[in-house]
Amino acid sequence: MTQGFTVWLTGLSGAGKTTIAIELEHELQARGVRVERLDGDTVRQGLTRDLGFSKADRDKNIERVTFVAKLLSRNGVGVIASFISPYREARDTARRETTNFIEVYVAAPVETCAARDVKGLYAKAFAGELKDFTGVNDPYEEPLSPEITLHTERETLSESVGIVLSYLEAHNLIPVIEAELSGD
Ligand code: ADP
Repeated sequence: MTQGFTVWLTGLSGAGKTTIAIELEHELQARGVRVERLDGDTVRQGLTRDLGFSKADRDKNIERVTFVAKLLSRNGVGVIASFISPYREARDTARRETTNFIEVYVAAPVETCAARDVKGLYAKAFAGELKDFTGVNDPYEEPLSPEITLHTERETLSESVGIVLSYLEAHNLIPVIEAELSGD
């Protein structure tokens, strides 16, 4: 059985975590990798729907997701977790608890995220209608030594996903596809 892993995408809202996670999931499935994607928005509709956005609730949110990622990754599944996960300590716990943890900092500047404003939340936060909004009026603790940093303000989606795939290949966590081996 191939080894499991945990690709942990962290970054501001609108940085590109979900978009990258979905594309990465497709690429991994195409290579026959068993994969499970855990996403902040969907997890918050189920497993953690009782939680809000205080520090204590954000920590609980990540703690529960970490537990799920631990069970999956130790059983040979490739986990793709996309969560703002603003607190370093909670991410470090995920690193300790899960198998082959890869911290991916999706690092678009807040100005880029606000200009994209995928969900219209930055406009609300800047207008003072949203409290506890990460990057505007709530903290985001940048990763200090992530395995990968993606700069989505200047990379295309396929470039960003390609960087993660190359990392997984280089660490023998996924099969290398033929087209890449042939070098053209
Ligand atoms: P998040 O999950 O971090 O809140 P989303 O994935 O929902 O962010 O939104 C990111 C937005 O940025 C999308 O509209 C996406 O098309 C765009 N984008 C531009 N370049 C990239 C890139 N290299 N990677 C991911 N998303 C990108």
